[in-house]
Amino acid sequence: MIVALAVLAALVYALFRWVWALPLMVLLLGLGFLVASALMTANGQITNILYAGLAITLPALARIGSELIQEIRRRQRGDLIISSAVTVADQRLQLDKTLAQALKSVSALLGAEHVAIWLQDAGGTLQPRQHSAALRPTDLGAFDGVLARARQAGKLVEEKGNIAIPMKQGGEVIGMIAAATRQSLNPEMRQSLERLAGDVVAGEIGNALLYDRMHRQKVLLEMTFDHSPAGLIELDGNLRIVRGNLAGDRALMAQSNDFVGLSLDSLLNAAGVEEGARINLREAFKNEVAFRRELSHQGRTYEIDAAPLPNQGGWVIVLSDVSTLMQLNEVRTRLLRIASHDLKNPLTRVRGYADLMSEGIGGSTLTPKDKDYVRAIISGTHSMQRIIDDILNTERLRAGKLEFTTLDVLPMIQEVIDRHQDDIHDKVINFNTEQPASISPIRGDGPQLIQAMSNLLGNAIKYTREGGNVTLRLKALPEHIRFEVEDTGYGIAAKDQHRIFSEFTTVRTKETLSIPGTGLGLSLAKAVIDSHGGKISFTSEEGKGSTFFIELPYAPQEQAG
Ligand code: ADP
Repeated sequence: MIVALAVLAALVYALFRWVWALPLMVLLLGLGFLVASALMTANGQITNILYAGLAITLPALARIGSELIQEIRRRQRGDLIISSAVTVADQRLQLDKTLAQALKSVSALLGAEHVAIWLQDAGGTLQPRQHSAALRPTDLGAFDGVLARARQAGKLVEEKGNIAIPMKQGGEVIGMIAAATRQSLNPEMRQSLERLAGDVVAGEIGNALLYDRMHRQKVLLEMTFDHSPAGLIELDGNLRIVRGNLAGDRALMAQSNDFVGLSLDSLLNAAGVEEGARINLREAFKNEVAFRRELSHQGRTYEIDAAPLPNQGGWVIVLSDVSTLMQLNEVRTRLLRIASHDLKNPLTRVRGYADLMSEGIGGSTLTPKDKDYVRAIISGTHSMQRIIDDILNTERLRAGKLEFTTLDVLPMIQEVIDRHQDDIHDKVINFNTEQPASISPIRGDGPQLIQAMSNLLGNAIKYTREGGNVTLRLKALPEHIRFEVEDTGYGIAAKDQHRIFSEFTTVRTKETLSIPGTGLGLSLAKAVIDSHGGKISFTSEEGKGSTFFIELPYAPQEQAG
């Protein structure tokens, strides 16, 4: 009877949650007391009443005790795992380890076998990152519905035996946890899970994620640095090597790693770079602005580009092997040399003989038609000569070969005019000059300046119709001389004006289509004037004419005499 009562009481307790066991027990004891007092008057069996009381109390205490122990254990386990997850994150900040630890924590907390974690990528898509061994990647699709709802709701969602909860860091969802639970979650479990997904795991995963991204970027940067096809060397503010890359080591044939903490100079010295080049580099670093130098080393040519690192006090050096370019340049120079000598000499001969023929020297009598042919030959040789001169002058300028002297301007202008006398005459141009009787000298490369001015006058004649006007003016302004060539020619359309100083740019209209030109004349003139600290410009109106100007500073007083 007493045993039956104990079993009955245990069954009643099992129907309710353990927290209800205590009030139930009191209720049952109360009922028992009422029944017992009725029975006691009947037969007064106090011992039986005591046994009945025990039968009611003991199962309740046993249930409460065991549940409490379980709960304490679960919490202890959860806390232990959380703290170990935190420790792992703290100590190593490794994302995968942190995720694995978080997975274990959730699985232990819920007693669930199926747990998975997703992380949100930069594009906002959830990427599965960790799942328990009991799950296969294909099983993860089962969580799709609950995941979507929890993500939308921004909180824990429980449906059909699955739960999903967002992991938030600073209010931002950084991922999701999902698990298959056999039973519905009780409030304590929910609370623990929320704590786990929110404050603890998300925080640590967030940090690990950040670290992971930074780490990846660092690795990417280091790989780019190490494997860049250009040689790279990083220096500190005292020009000591911080690191160098493989291409740099190959170029210098030295291991930059062995020179970390030592000066760049010592690395270059060990690489066999000659003293002069090293001194040149040391000087260049003094200005603390980006610079470029050429370096010949072991039969190859390198371009050294050095730039200071902003806010770091260091430098980065890029070593580019420009040997192939230099070789191409060499070939080009050789070709131009051929053009200057091998082409120029025969051309002069052709022109000479054509001149002789046109003058009837050598005994030949030319018919009027023959004379036309010879004139065409002579005009052709003139054009060819101009092209050769343009190319050679451009090359001379590129090579930076300018020889500065103090120059008397009026004879230079005369030379410019003389060069074009024939053209002015042939084309029947009304040519006028306006110049002062005397003018202060300028400083510069005489032949180059004559060439630049000559190009402007040549163009004015070339791009003016027969019978048009060309005026050459020279003005002595307070700060500089001003050379002007004004024509009443075809002019330049506004849309083309911005590009006429570019190399190889020729602008042609129906009217000017047959005029020969290389497109080098103005670019050459500009390069010459720029290198003299002067100014070149123009005004032009299509169909009306153009005026080109050159302004050049006077020679400094002490050099003028
Ligand atoms: P090009 O060999 O074609 O003359 P330039 O560099 O000397 O090359 O001039 C570039 C272009 O500028 C020419 O093609 C021409 O269209 C235009 N140009 C230069 N000078 C004049 C001018 N005085 N009148 C009209 N157009 C000009």
